[in-house]
Order: sequence, then structure tokens, then C-alpha cells
Amino acid sequence: MGKPHVLVIPGPAQGHVIPLMELSRHLAKQGIKISFVNTDFNHKRVVHAFGNNVAENDLLHLVSVPDGLEDGEDRNRIGRLIERLCQVMPGQLKDLIHKLNASDDDKISCVLADVTLGFALDVAAELGIPRAALWPASVYQLVLNLCIPKHIDDGLIDEDGTPLLKDKMVQLSPTTPVVRPTNFLWLNLDPFPSTQKIIFDLVRGNNKAVETVDWVLCNSSLELELERFNLLPKVLPIGPLSAANRLGNLSGNFWPEDSACLQWLDQQPPGSVIYIAFGSFAIFDQIQFQELALGLEQTNRPFLWVVREDSIKGNHLVYPQGFIERVGNRGKMVSWAPQGAVLEHSSIACFVSHCGWNSTLEGVSNGVPFLCWPYFADQFLNQSYICDIWKVGLRFERDERGIIGKVEIKSKVERLVGDENIRTRAAELRQKVTKSVGVGGNSDKVLKDFVEWLKS
Ligand code: UDP
Repeated sequence: MGKPHVLVIPGPAQGHVIPLMELSRHLAKQGIKISFVNTDFNHKRVVHAFGNNVAENDLLHLVSVPDGLEDGEDRNRIGRLIERLCQVMPGQLKDLIHKLNASDDDKISCVLADVTLGFALDVAAELGIPRAALWPASVYQLVLNLCIPKHIDDGLIDEDGTPLLKDKMVQLSPTTPVVRPTNFLWLNLDPFPSTQKIIFDLVRGNNKAVETVDWVLCNSSLELELERFNLLPKVLPIGPLSAANRLGNLSGNFWPEDSACLQWLDQQPPGSVIYIAFGSFAIFDQIQFQELALGLEQTNRPFLWVVREDSIKGNHLVYPQGFIERVGNRGKMVSWAPQGAVLEHSSIACFVSHCGWNSTLEGVSNGVPFLCWPYFADQFLNQSYICDIWKVGLRFERDERGIIGKVEIKSKVERLVGDENIRTRAAELRQKVTKSVGVGGNSDKVLKDFVEWLKS
């Protein structure tokens, strides 16, 4: 018998590729061979960001398949991307598995796919290959997805997933975050309503796959979501998977990291810097972008701000007049930061975040208090975890223009950095979460059992 050989398939988004890459690196260190499947489009970005074409570990190989979109098509139109993936990827994956099995002594012994690609798990079932799935968000988000039949029975949504009670807040128990039906995942992923049904059907298909796979792992920990894990005994915590410091390693980043900001952080006083980052998708309009710049300027604190080249509508990035000169060395803008290492740095005071799940885990794992600025997907739910359940951050409020104004930014930063209770809770949560991935911790035990199963 050959080595265990796992085909790992992340969803085609940054926040899905990074945790699955992290898990793959853990597995490769345990002697498990990995073929990591990106879409061709993301594969090129990962290879470019990493700097060369060779994976760091002989056992971890990068492969890719087409996503079904044309070269210049907008991959941020999630509904359209999903529609094409569902059409082309099952066939592509089958061909890839046959090809790998024909050329490699170590046949694919397991498919480990993102839960968001339930069809990839169906392909494995069809070929008789054992299956494991990783859910890359909070287990509560998975609970909400799996509760679709209950949401229909409760009259929250209709059979197509359309919300019927838009203003009702949903809370499954007093210790769970609060969500609006309009923030159910299939409703706010894509601004084009025509794709809502496509996403809803995908979620329902994914739910079916969850019921039948051999393993469902979740990038979360008992320390963060004990009761929600109790609701779904089949789903096992394995996180946080986001490494504290991925610098220099194959991490799955889509953009090259600007590591010079770490030297800049070294020059700042401990606990002084505001770190601002909105993940890989969020896009600002010009007014909001300028207001954020002015708010940061008015805090009079050092700040490190990730401004992706594509973070502005129309890609036309304009800072307020004189902003760059006025803030001088007090403000550092980078197009992509080594976020794990940044959040670990002792100079960081707080994290202005869009509350993507990975960013949430990374902030929590480093005991950094949050200022929450959610956009879409599960980010509102994660905000509720941060502010209402774990109480390690504050929300921003929008003004009458519908934007987060400079005065609000300055005053919330002041309130947060002056709040000793939040800092204490953030430090306590960090300790608990760190323990879960440490030797003998809850998530560590699951990982070990999973490795044994793969090897058996
Ligand atoms: N990230 C990074 N550098 C940046 C901004 C983000 O490495 O400058 C990483 C971050 O550490 C996280 C991922 O990109 O692991 C973003 O995932 P998240 O779930 O937070 O947000 P998404 O991009 O899915 O909206």
C-alpha cells in the first residue's frame, strides 16, 4: 500500500484557501501526501505571491483546475462564479483524480473538501473515495445553514430562501449571536438577486454532503463555541487553523506580503498601533475611504492600514488632499500585510476589522481587541460574537449618510483603547483558544485522530 494521499479542495476565496493550506501543511508534516487543488486563477496568484513554484514540503503539491469563467471575468461576482463552478468543476475533479491516480503510486486515499463545495464531496462519493470536509467559518454559521428547513417552518424564509420577516432578529438561544434573516449567507454573498437561488441551492446541497461524509472538521474551537458544537456532535473543532506567523511559508496568500511593515511596527511603542484590514473582498466607495483616512488621522495614533489595490470602487484610489504628508511616518499603508505576524506584534493596540472568520480567529488568538466593520457573508454574525458573546470589541455606528464617519472612528478608537475590561477579556480568551491548539488541547486531539484515520 502507498502513502496516504489527500486531495484538498478549498473554496476559491482567500478566506478558504488559507485555512485549508494551513491544515494541509500540518498533514504534510505528519507524512501525509497532499495534492492541493486551486482554481487556475487562484493557483497563479498563490504561486506568484509565494515567489516560486516549489512547495516548501516535498509532500505538498499544488495543482489546479479551471473555474469555468473567462479570463477577464469578475471573480468577485460570487453567484456567477458558483454557477460556473457547479457546472464545470465536478467533471474537472474527476479527470484530475483519474490523472493523479494514473501517474502516482500513491493513489488518492481521501478527498478533503471545503463544505462550501459539496459537489466535490459528491464526486468523491461517486468514485468510492473516503471523504472529509472542512467548514471554514464558525460552527454557528453551519448550524444556521443546516436549519434551513426550520427557518422555512418558522416562516423566516420561503422555499427559495427569500426572507419573509426581514426585521426579525433570530437568536437560537440566549448565548448565541443574533442574526437578521437578511444576513443569512445565501442572501448577502452577492448583490445580484438573480443568483440568490443558485447560492441557496448550493447551500442545501452542501448540507446534504455534511450529513454523509466521514469527517466534518470546523475551523473553530470548543473554547469559542462549546454549546454550538454540542448542537452538532458530528462536527469536530480543529481550529483556529490560522497560524500566528506564516511569514515566508507557503500560506495560500493571493497577494505578496509586504513584510517591511514589521520593521515599522518594531519602531512603535507597545500597544499603540491601530491595525486596519478588511480581508480580501471588501470594497469601499470613495467617500467612505476618505472618511476612514480622516478618522485615522484624527486619532493621533500610529496606524497600519491594508489598502488593497482593488479596495476602491472603480479601482481609483485617492487619499484626502494632504493626508499622506500630514500623517507622515505615523501612518503606514501596505497593499497586503503578513497579518498573522502583525497581530502578534506587541505594538498593536486594536484591530479595525471587517470580521471575516479568519481575521476574527487571528485577532482572538492574539488577544487583540476589535472595532467591527462588517460587510457581508458571516461577518455580521462574527461581529455579534465579538461584541455580544465574547465581549472583546465594539461596533461602529453608521451616520445619517449611511457611512462610518471620522468622528465615530476617532471616538470608538479612544473608547476601545481606554477599556481595560475588554483588554482583559481579550487576553483571557486568547489563553483559552491557544490552549485548544496546544499539545493535548481539544482541537489538537481532533487533528491527531484525523491524522490517524488518514493513515489507517
Ligand atoms: N490577510 C492577510 N493580509 C492582509 C489581509 C488579510 O494575510 O493584509 C489574510 C488574513 O490573515 C486572513 C485572510 O487573509 O487569514 C482573510 O480571511 P477572512 O476570513 O478574514 O476574510 P475574507 O478575505 O474571507 O473576507
